[in-house]
Amino acid sequence: MFKKVLIANRGEIAVRIARSCKKMGIRSVAVFSEIDSRALHVREADEARLIGPSPSKASYLDGVKIIDAALAHGCEAIHPGYGFLSENPGFAEAVSRAGLTFIGPPAAVIATMGDKIASKRMAGKAGLTVVPGRPDPVSDPDDAVRAAREIGYPVLLKPAAGGGGRGMRIVYGDDEVIPALRDSQEETRKAFGDDRIFLERYIDRPRHVEVQILADHFGKVVHFGERECSIQRRYQKIIEESPSPAVDDALRRKMGDMACALAREAGYTNAGTVEFILDPEGNVYFLEMNTRLQVEHPVTEMVTGVDLVELQIRVAAGEPLPLRQEDIRLEGWAMEARVCAEDPARNFLPSTGLITRYAAPRGKNIRVDSGVEAGSLVSVYYDSMLAKVTARGDSRERAGNLLSQALNRYHIEGPVTNLHFVNSILNHPAFIRGDLSTAFIGEHFENGRMKIPPPPERLHFPVMAATLIYHNRQYLVRDSLRPMAARVGRTHEQEAWHRYRVKGEENVFDVLLRGDETLSTWTIRVDNNEYRVVPPRFEFYRRRLKLRINGESHYFQLQYQENFIWAAYCGISRTFEIYNPLEWRLAEYMRPVEKTEEKNVLRSPMPGLLVEVRVQEGDRVYRGQDIVVIESMKMETGVSSPCDGEVAEIIVTPGQTVETGDTLLVFKPC
Ligand code: ADP
Ligand code: ADP
Ligand code: MG
Repeated sequence: MFKKVLIANRGEIAVRIARSCKKMGIRSVAVFSEIDSRALHVREADEARLIGPSPSKASYLDGVKIIDAALAHGCEAIHPGYGFLSENPGFAEAVSRAGLTFIGPPAAVIATMGDKIASKRMAGKAGLTVVPGRPDPVSDPDDAVRAAREIGYPVLLKPAAGGGGRGMRIVYGDDEVIPALRDSQEETRKAFGDDRIFLERYIDRPRHVEVQILADHFGKVVHFGERECSIQRRYQKIIEESPSPAVDDALRRKMGDMACALAREAGYTNAGTVEFILDPEGNVYFLEMNTRLQVEHPVTEMVTGVDLVELQIRVAAGEPLPLRQEDIRLEGWAMEARVCAEDPARNFLPSTGLITRYAAPRGKNIRVDSGVEAGSLVSVYYDSMLAKVTARGDSRERAGNLLSQALNRYHIEGPVTNLHFVNSILNHPAFIRGDLSTAFIGEHFENGRMKIPPPPERLHFPVMAATLIYHNRQYLVRDSLRPMAARVGRTHEQEAWHRYRVKGEENVFDVLLRGDETLSTWTIRVDNNEYRVVPPRFEFYRRRLKLRINGESHYFQLQYQENFIWAAYCGISRTFEIYNPLEWRLAEYMRPVEKTEEKNVLRSPMPGLLVEVRVQEGDRVYRGQDIVVIESMKMETGVSSPCDGEVAEIIVTPGQTVETGDTLLVFKPC
């Protein structure tokens, strides 16, 4: 077994790999960029080495520096994690040439599988059904239109070298093919240095289901069942589970056999994932193979009880797989949510900044893989994923509930996160039914919110939390102002029903509450439904609140200002206005102040690196025209003009970093 392993990654995955190393008695070496010098993954490893400036090209993507670090620290192997250099055959090759072990498959296999065209051919040879299409690169526009017609619309344009959902375009008719081809080529040339695009049928409302495999150097290949990863935005997964509600034993066996057959055909070793899509009729198509550990591997670990990283290391060290296929069983259900620094209400634009408060959930059957803590800086340089939360239960329903409760307790302040968004997905009736497809978010959500309003009963708990907080604060303030003498006989105050009217964003609630003699238990009525509520003793002013309601614990997040209380619970995050009956009448006459839109400046919608300014001073621009390009967390976004006008002054220059709200340029309105 290795004595020392270098982890060529950062964030939660580096932390997670270091943990398995520790368990196995292997010393771990972290690498870090300048901005990560105080990062969690650096402290979790036994040794650490600075490898360069913050941009990944100069650090985490610099294979030479990483191999030098491994040699300097006396490592015998390198674990690449995922992302960065994990699927780079040149890096795998260079690691071997340096006399080190690459913890992953052979470089040649990475090269074949990293090429979506070559991997489809290989899958065809191994007897797998591939998505109908034309697995050849197209560059001639007319040829592309011909191919698209043959396949039948809708057609997906896909980069052969793709990954992370980049460069894909859906086209619905002839006239869309040529511009989409151009865009797709340009994006992939920049991202992967390769602009080969091929075409395949776009499967409508498919499920994404993938199979985890592991192969050793003695010809043994086993699979660990499937993961369903249909909940995606921008073709990227955010909620995953194992098993899949769409897979029965027969289909599991069939997909498992297909995945193992492909691994054998390819001469695969180490861990890998074979991705499939399932169409609504239940047909299975091979999509691609990822030649590395996946972000969502914890759901598989939680239902099979194995440590995939440990097995990866053992296989790489030349040990035979200690498991037979019959030994691997899926027990219970596991579900994972990815916590990302992004704003679901603003089309998932990335968010950055210092994490000012941080508290992660803990508990039985809950696993948090995090790369951050209070004080961590979320920068524009890397991926927006901060952490993952995985929960396990006997059934899908239990796992989902436990995960939702865990997310209620996850508190992150600083950058905007998708915590409440992923939580609301878990609580959507269609998700609960298991009615999933990759179109789920687009179908059921808009601007980060469910399209259907929550039924009023779903709001009772957050309404109670908000009202109780408000009441206690009002009551304590009033009480502190009363003369001592009046405070002696408090029974009247305690036994009275207090009445409030709570205005939610969709509904108005009548709330009555009454405390017992010691004010430790409250009876609360919301629209005539009665609940017994036990608040904690000293948490009235906190941002997180735990209430026992009818004997069960529930966690809320709260923020308050005057009589406006924002509460989040199970993905419902709403501002409530709380009034006593007298104030309510007054409030009814008040109108919300309308915001006026700024028309003559272009502001940055997000933090990032300014890549390009596409106009010059004096140019005419039209509303909706992309005039500035900003890159943030591996994504380029065009910022479009809010008006028709003329560019009066350009404030920024390419290469500079900008914050949300920074003025980019000023228009002369016409
Ligand atoms: P990447 O390398 O970016 O992960 P994939 O080929 O795995 O590329 O595709 C990513 C996602 O895009 C899939 O999970 C699926 O949601 C969607 N997708 C890919 N191919 C198709 C297709 N032919 N039809 C419908 N959706 C697809
Ligand atoms: P405030 O915003 O009023 O300062 P917080 O609750 O946000 O209150 O912070 C107080 C401290 O207590 C923080 O360190 C926080 O992590 C911790 N904390 C808050 N709520 C809980 C809770 N329910 N359980 C455990 N620790 C908590
Ligand atoms: Mg994929």
